[in-house]
Amino acid sequence: MSEKDIMKLVRPMVQDIAPYRSARDEFEDFQAQKVFLDANENPYKSIANRYPDPLQRELKRALAKVKGVNADQILLGNGSDEVLDLIFRTFCEPGKDEVILLPPTYGMYAVLAQLNNVKTTAIPLDENFELDTKAILDAVNDNTKVIFVCSPNNPSANAIPMEQIQILLDQFSGLVVVDEAYIDFSSKGSALPLLNDYPKLIISQTFSKAYGLAGIRLGIGFANPLIINFFNKIKPPYNVNSLTQKAALDVLQDHSYVSRQIEELIVQREMMKKQLITFGFVKKVFPSDANFLLVKVDDAAKRYEQFLTQGVVVRNRSSLMNCENTLRITVGTPEENITFITACKTIDQ
Ligand SMILES: *Cc1c(COP(=O)(O)O)cnc(C)c1O
Repeated sequence: MSEKDIMKLVRPMVQDIAPYRSARDEFEDFQAQKVFLDANENPYKSIANRYPDPLQRELKRALAKVKGVNADQILLGNGSDEVLDLIFRTFCEPGKDEVILLPPTYGMYAVLAQLNNVKTTAIPLDENFELDTKAILDAVNDNTKVIFVCSPNNPSANAIPMEQIQILLDQFSGLVVVDEAYIDFSSKGSALPLLNDYPKLIISQTFSKAYGLAGIRLGIGFANPLIINFFNKIKPPYNVNSLTQKAALDVLQDHSYVSRQIEELIVQREMMKKQLITFGFVKKVFPSDANFLLVKVDDAAKRYEQFLTQGVVVRNRSSLMNCENTLRITVGTPEENITFITACKTIDQ
């Protein structure tokens, strides 16, 4: 796998495009003590009167340390959604290239594929939500550019074994994207240590789940620096605003409380699981490596409404493949989880 192989996967338009150069690209050191008259900003100080760093250098340096990667292996986006969209727009020629999805899984892959006019082939996970590497590899054709693997998977909550991800990386000549939005809750490791060995591996993570910052919209892409360069070339120049960069830097500076919250949420998850299986309306609780549980019940539509009456909002996932009569339940605070279990007792007649 060489740089030339990566180049071959990139859309010709993206290879040729000349990036927009913003004022902050021409003069990069905006921390310098200079008089900045180059970007038509309002000079009077406010929380955000200056344009943000388009490449988020300070934040990437901090994140690289925490994640054990190099800063040039990181892309930051306006949520994972932007990171995933950039993958489509960099690699998938509309009306020609294709991707493989493994349902039931996160809905944004299919939405983004459709938005980008990219054909999807679905290779369903089995009834235990495990993936079939042979069926996936058999479905690959000359136009298949990307396989999307979500691990831990939303909505099924299980992590995909690393050996299976490695089989896909070894035997598929295109890109393997591993969406690790829930990786901090997983007992199985991240795919990050594979990054240096597999230049066609892209990993996405997010500040929305474990880091407790869904509102700042910050997604992370980890990939070979060559791929990151293409992302940087086509992304909107100021895609991550300065308030978001600041909030993320703050949490990275001291994320011990995040680690404590993760531990607590995992304890609560196991407690909820134990209680749930004691109720008559619960048929099965699937194994979870995430901060939520997928629960098979007798009648999901009915139970959803009953929970609502008890003031608890869960997600009915019954419309997804192999998910008939399932509810997806997020682990809340201990108090919220007691409310939830009390609601279970009330409706379990
Ligand atoms: C929640 C979630 C995300 C996070 O998306 P953001 O745009 O970063 O908030 C990504 N992938 C999966 C599978 C998710 O469930």
